[in-house]
Amino acid sequence: MAAPRAGLGAGAGAAAGVPGRQGSSGVEVVFPSEPAPPAPLCPHGPTLLFVKVNQGKEETRRFYACSACRDRKDCNFFQWEDEKLSGARLAAREAHNRKCQPPLSRTQCAERYLKFIELPLSQRKFCQRCQQLLLPDDWEKHHEHRVVGDISITQLRRPSQLLYPLENKKTNAQYLFADRSCQFLVDLLPTLGFTRVLCVGTPRLHELIRLKASDDKKSNIKSLLLDIDFRYSQFYMEDSFCHYNMFNHHFFDGKAALEVCRTFLQEDKGEGVIMVTDPPFGGLVEPLAVTFKKLIAMWKEGQSEGSSHKELPIFWIFPYFFESRIRQFFPSFCMLDYQRFHRTFICVDEAMKYGCMLEVDYDNHALYKHGKTGRKQSPVRIFTNIPPNKIILPSEEGYRFCPLCQRYISLENQHCEHCNSCTSKDGRKWNHCFFCKKCVKPSWIHCSICGHCALPDHSCGGPKDGCFICGELDHKRSTCPKITTSKKVNRWGE
Ligand code: SAH
Ligand code: ZN
Ligand code: ZN
Ligand code: ZN
Ligand code: ZN
Repeated sequence: MAAPRAGLGAGAGAAAGVPGRQGSSGVEVVFPSEPAPPAPLCPHGPTLLFVKVNQGKEETRRFYACSACRDRKDCNFFQWEDEKLSGARLAAREAHNRKCQPPLSRTQCAERYLKFIELPLSQRKFCQRCQQLLLPDDWEKHHEHRVVGDISITQLRRPSQLLYPLENKKTNAQYLFADRSCQFLVDLLPTLGFTRVLCVGTPRLHELIRLKASDDKKSNIKSLLLDIDFRYSQFYMEDSFCHYNMFNHHFFDGKAALEVCRTFLQEDKGEGVIMVTDPPFGGLVEPLAVTFKKLIAMWKEGQSEGSSHKELPIFWIFPYFFESRIRQFFPSFCMLDYQRFHRTFICVDEAMKYGCMLEVDYDNHALYKHGKTGRKQSPVRIFTNIPPNKIILPSEEGYRFCPLCQRYISLENQHCEHCNSCTSKDGRKWNHCFFCKKCVKPSWIHCSICGHCALPDHSCGGPKDGCFICGELDHKRSTCPKITTSKKVNRWGE
């Protein structure tokens, strides 16, 4: 029997990522009720238990697969739940897991970094092929690689510009914010009174917070980065970066790293800390929610008695069409209307020509300004448990306060008296439909055959499973309006 693909392609997203799709096919994560046997380990820590779902019915045989990798090419771990492995196979697996770990320990990386910054500028080299800072002893090994020299302290402080963003779309897609989008957060966090930021999968935010703290002596805001991209361990000491898997709360460097995180969360009895996360969007929401609850619990342990009612403040950056899914796990979260999370766009052609990365802010890039759809809003939003009336969105960009909703909303969002809320999710004015009893996108009309609103040219009784990209029922992934032909450029194609 062919093993189901735990790689969790589109099907998995459709089943597990989009709420309430009945009759869909795909793969879902199962969290067995305790006590459950410990999950077997892959190179990325404990695996997750999956079940294949066909036409809404779960198949009986469940299997373990990698929590982090959506693609079997990246991690091909597979084991049926009821499968018994021989001692020899277990030993081989353990050896494989060890072999896959980074060659240097976290401490060794930190030591290398200290040596590196002591070198004179002319000896500070970085191998682009190996994505590695080189010490003089390493030069020989890399002499045929493309090596850049004169790595300045300024460059060292901006590793996300030095490193190539990981390209693999399924597993490790890195969508770095444009500095301008990131600056919004960097400025907002101290305004809200935060002094420590736990950055989970936000390397650029981490780096900008630290830059600000070192440039501006008044800002003493601290940041700890948790990320699966261990290339970052070359640039940070142990107390500011942990190699971490956010789909299973796994610290690759064991207890010492876990303690770094715990200490960070519990400092000052947990006062003044916020978690900011921007997970890969292909990832499953439930494992993320389970992880975040573990981080919340870790923070709670450090609370003084009187403040046990408080919640760990969180910014979860994710596409708006996951709103109901996120609120299923975090009912107190609300979605902010801030829509300007623009990612940097790496000009691949120019990078080839000049041998360096050229980053372009979406706002300034002709392709986006005059792009096919003419819309340059990003579908990415902030989900948070901080009262939204505290989060002032910039009036220069058209945001204003809605006293009825008690939150800041975008220019064209309008309060609907029937829904009693400002209902637009995408920056356009939505219209109320009295049949559906809710507001819908301006491009939709009510279809009496389907019994709900849809695009005018939808096919009635069409696909029920909905689109993997946006969750809408009226089209499939391949025809999603959010995908364009320039797939290389960004993940939404706006
Ligand atoms: N917008 C952010 C980057 C988000 S890209 C910024 O500009 O800072 C998603 C990030 O999550 C990447 O840094 C990627 O390395 C990290 N990531 C991907 N899978 C992960 C996992 N399983 N565990 C932890 N981090 C992960
Ligand atoms: Zn794995
Ligand atoms: Zn090299
Ligand atoms: Zn309405
Ligand atoms: Zn309708």
